[in-house]
Amino acid sequence: MTRPDRSDINRLQQRAGRPEDAPLRGKDGVRLPPRYRANPVTRNPNSSAGEVFLVGAGPGDPELLTLKAWRILQSAEVVLYDRLVSQPILDMIPDGAHMVHVGKQRSNHSVPQDEINQRLVTLAREGRRVVRLKGGDPFIFGRGGEEIETLAEAGVRFQVVPGITAASGCAAYAGIPLTHRDHAQSVRFVTGHLKNDTCDLPWNDFVQTHQTLVFYMGLVGLPIIVRELTAHGMRPTMPVALVSRGTTPEQEVVCGTLENIVERVQQREVPAPTLVIIGEVVSLRNRLDWMAAVQTMDGRETP
Ligand code: SAH
Repeated sequence: MTRPDRSDINRLQQRAGRPEDAPLRGKDGVRLPPRYRANPVTRNPNSSAGEVFLVGAGPGDPELLTLKAWRILQSAEVVLYDRLVSQPILDMIPDGAHMVHVGKQRSNHSVPQDEINQRLVTLAREGRRVVRLKGGDPFIFGRGGEEIETLAEAGVRFQVVPGITAASGCAAYAGIPLTHRDHAQSVRFVTGHLKNDTCDLPWNDFVQTHQTLVFYMGLVGLPIIVRELTAHGMRPTMPVALVSRGTTPEQEVVCGTLENIVERVQQREVPAPTLVIIGEVVSLRNRLDWMAAVQTMDGRETP
């Protein structure tokens, strides 16, 4: 790995949309001190002291953050975070950290993926301790792999901290066990982000019995998902749940069956993010919705 020269760094910084002289500032507005460009410990000019931590923030409830994620956030200099990271988690980040929102919305990436990747490289080469904070788990529909591939190519050190993925968080808080010896021996996490209405997914595999399906990003494509599963032989009475803003105080769950879920969801106009769970296990919610019980018992809104 050769050390980048000044022009490389300038070029990267331009691509990252930050002029070289624009200072990094914490949430409190205080300027971050400059860093060494060569590793000050090893004095090796070929390795930067910077490091990137790809961290999963979980599905929303701040108490679902791992201790490791929390610890790393406490010493972060720069945090690049997505739209899905909940406000209570952002509030836990110390005031001295420079915050960069690179949030993504369906088909409306506020910062293009390439640029995020390059920005991580630039900041690490400046010697910064950078946290790339993502909703849920960074390796599940989070493009975490692409981001660290760029870091690996650039010779930047990185670590990965898993998070509770939306499927685990939403299922637990909705009282729906994803597997169950009587109902489902396997579970599949599927992207519901169907490009241009094309349904290039292995639908035949999805209609196997004793399997739970979890569709991420499935709200817009829900009518297509329902249509394809029905066309491939899933019974119209198969239970379906849609969990909106799971694990947060605003969590809403819409339950139905394959044949009526689209209509029920349209009636409720549930806000994103939403997760769709399909399978026999959904019917267990009738008995296992522990959150409703907690709310009724002590009037609290969250567990
Ligand atoms: N890496 C994330 C997923 C990113 S893809 C993870 O592991 O959870 C974004 C999708 O995740 C959303 O479209 C939605 O389907 C799902 N999602 C994330 N957080 C959610 C939440 N709190 N409630 C419901 N769905 C959520």
